[in-house]
Amino acid sequence: MNDDHPRQLIENAELILFDSDGVLVEEGDPLPGAIDLVEQLINQGKKVVVLSNNSTKHPNTMKEQYQRKGLKITTIINSGITTARYCRDHAINRVFVVGEWGLIDLLQENQIHVTDSHPDAVIVGMDRDLTYEKLAVATRLIRSGATFIATNPDRSFPTSRGLEPGAGSMIAAIAASSDIEPEVIIGKPNEFGYQLALKQFELDPEQCVMIGDRYETDILGALKAGIPAFVVNTGIASSREYPGRWQDNPEVPVVQSLTDLLE
Ligand SMILES: [Mg+2]
Repeated sequence: MNDDHPRQLIENAELILFDSDGVLVEEGDPLPGAIDLVEQLINQGKKVVVLSNNSTKHPNTMKEQYQRKGLKITTIINSGITTARYCRDHAINRVFVVGEWGLIDLLQENQIHVTDSHPDAVIVGMDRDLTYEKLAVATRLIRSGATFIATNPDRSFPTSRGLEPGAGSMIAAIAASSDIEPEVIIGKPNEFGYQLALKQFELDPEQCVMIGDRYETDILGALKAGIPAFVVNTGIASSREYPGRWQDNPEVPVVQSLTDLLE
């Protein structure tokens, strides 16, 4: 087995970073091999972290959902956590949010005031209750000088009905109406989440591995952070609607399913 074979990458790593949708779960249900692989890694004394671009749910809600389905995940870094951290690090204390309650709760827990009155920033994430009014308020605030911050770039969101609009679609709408692009997009492929995980566990990039289904976020972000990564050909990677862009980079190893990684 050569050094960049996925099984070898996992064996070498102390921390395994998983993407969530399309890797561990699909529509909330564990994908084949996910439960057993997570258990195997924990039994081997490895750290397991979910690094997700999804900002709609609070990490505690995600944790409960995983555990109810038999996935023993205890550490979750989603783009809501990284966004809250970014705000704190940049003295952004007042924000208007286009996003769901999971994101709003996280920001408030981090002492960030959510308001439409003179915010420092407008935070835009996926919002399944998006209205014209929210778009209009966000547009006016950004045009008046509030910093435009986006949680994650994913343009679409996989559901059992097919791909539906993701955060990137809402960001595009507000970028169009405000004539301003986001100052920063926090989620993968940005390095913030990876760096947060490395710091939390006091590890170097080469002591980790990232497993993802979306090349341009999961894999690209990991490689930028110096973390080895490979694709699992489930979720978006296997979607007929998705031009399998990981195939453009033959350097990136691929496994067909998490079951291929079980001992
Ligand atoms: Mg995914």
